[in-house]
Amino acid sequence: MREPVEFTVLEAVQAIQKGQISSRELTQVCLQRITALEPTLRAYITLTPDLAMAQADAADKFLAEWRQYPQGALPPLLGLPIAVKDVLCLANVRCTCGSRILENFIPPYSATAVERLLSAGVVVTGKTNTDEFAMGSSTENSAYGATHNPWDLQRVPGGSSGGSAAVVAARLVFAAMGTDTGGSVRQPASFCGVTGLKPTYGRVSRYGLVAYGSSLDCIGPMARTTEDVALLYSIMAGYDRRDATSMDLPVPPIQFSDKPNLKGVRVGVPKEYFISGIQPEVEKAVRQAVALMQTLGAEIHEISLPHTHYALPVYYLIAPAEASANLARYDGVRYGLRESDGDTLELFRNSRGAGFGPEVKRRIMLGTYALSAGYYDAYYAQAQKVRTLIKRDFETAFESVDIIAAPVAPTTAFPIGRHSGDPLAMYLEDIFTLTANLAGVPGLAFPVGFDEHLLPIGMQIMGPHFREDLLFKVGHAYQQATDWHQKMPLLEVS
Ligand code: GLN
Repeated sequence: MREPVEFTVLEAVQAIQKGQISSRELTQVCLQRITALEPTLRAYITLTPDLAMAQADAADKFLAEWRQYPQGALPPLLGLPIAVKDVLCLANVRCTCGSRILENFIPPYSATAVERLLSAGVVVTGKTNTDEFAMGSSTENSAYGATHNPWDLQRVPGGSSGGSAAVVAARLVFAAMGTDTGGSVRQPASFCGVTGLKPTYGRVSRYGLVAYGSSLDCIGPMARTTEDVALLYSIMAGYDRRDATSMDLPVPPIQFSDKPNLKGVRVGVPKEYFISGIQPEVEKAVRQAVALMQTLGAEIHEISLPHTHYALPVYYLIAPAEASANLARYDGVRYGLRESDGDTLELFRNSRGAGFGPEVKRRIMLGTYALSAGYYDAYYAQAQKVRTLIKRDFETAFESVDIIAAPVAPTTAFPIGRHSGDPLAMYLEDIFTLTANLAGVPGLAFPVGFDEHLLPIGMQIMGPHFREDLLFKVGHAYQQATDWHQKMPLLEVS
C-alpha cells in the first residue's frame, strides 16, 4: 500500500470506508505533516486541529454505526481531510480574507459550498492563505505574509488561492477549496502542479464567499486528479436559493470511462494565447499536451478569440469597480477592525486606512474612479460592452469546437518579490485566465510538464457554460495517459 499522504481523494475515502485506516489516523497523518512543513510553507492563516480531530472522530463514529445498521449510501467524502481558502466562511472559525480589517471576524455560518462538503463528511484542517480579498496572483498581498511554493521555497505558489494550491501540492491534505475571480484557482494550480476547476459562473453558490467581484467570483475545488476535482465539484455545485445568481439546473452525475478515448472531441487552440513573451517551455508543454490529445482521438483546430487582448483592461476596470462597491461595507462600524479617533468620517477613514493593504486600496481607488460621474460611461460602461464581445468570442468558437485548450499563465512560478513592486507586471500573469471569468465559462487547469528549474507547467481547457463534464472527460483522459499529476515535490520533513 502507498503512504497515506500519497492517496488521492478517491483512494483516501475508499481506505476509510473499507476500514484500512480510520479518519482519526488519516487526519493525524495530515496534522503531523502540517506541523512539520507549515513553518516553511506558511500556507495557512488559521489552523483548526481541534475541529479536525472532532470531525474525524464523528466520521469514525458514523462509520461504525453505519456498519452495524447500514442505511443508505455513506456520505461521499466521509472522514477526508481538506483545507478551505480564507475567503470562505466556516462557522465559528475566523475568516480574515488575508486582511487586517477582518483579523478578528468570526462568521456565525458556513458558505453553502463549505456546508455541502461538511455534509459530505469532510474534516477541515484550517483556512488557507490568500492575497488580501483575493486580489493578487502570488499570495504576496496577504497581510499574514507570503506562502512559499512547495516546488521551490524561494518562489510564489501563485494566487490568490496560493495557500490552497500549496497544501494540496505538499500533500498536507487531499483537496482544498479555492476561489477564482480572474484565475485564482487555475493559476496557483498551474504554479504548484495540481488540478483545479473554475466552474461555470452560477454553478456553485457564492453564499458565504466574501465578495470581491460579484459578477466574476467562482468557488472551485483543487486536488491532484481530475477525478477528485470532479467529485468535489459535483458535491459543491447546484442551486442555492441564498445566491440570486445560482442557476437552477440539475448537476448531471459524472462518469469516467476506463480507457482514455477522446474520439470525436474537437479541441480549439486559440492563436491569441500563444503570444510573444510566453515562456518557451510553457508553450512547448501545452502544444505537446494538445498533440497527445490528438493521439487519444481528439481533432485539433486552430481558432481565434479576437477580443482576447482587451481582457486585461476590461477585467481591471470591472473587477475593481465591483470590489470598490463590495468593500464599502468595511467601515469600522459593522465589521472587523475599528480605529476610532474623532467623528464618524474619521472612524471610516482610520479603520479603512489601517485595515486595508496597498493593493486593496489601489483597487478601491481605481474602481471608484471608473464608477464616478463623468467617467462611468467612458470606462465602466465601455468595459461592460467589450466584456460582451469577449463572451461572444467564446460562443462563436463553441459553434465549431467542443473545448478550448490554452496555457494557464505565460510563465511558471516566479521568485517571491519579483513583481511585488510592479502591479502591472503582476496583472499580466492573469492574461490567459481572465477571459473565462469575463465570459462565465468553466476552466480546468492541470499539470502538463516541468520547466528547466523543475517547476510545474499547467494548461487549461475551457468549455461552454455548464459543460464541466466535457472538461472532466478530457482532463481525465489526459491524466490516464500521463503522470505529471502524480509528481510530488521533495520536502524535508523534520
Ligand atoms: N489576479 C487577479 C486579481 O488580482 C485574479 C484574482 C482572483 O481570481 N481572485 O484580481
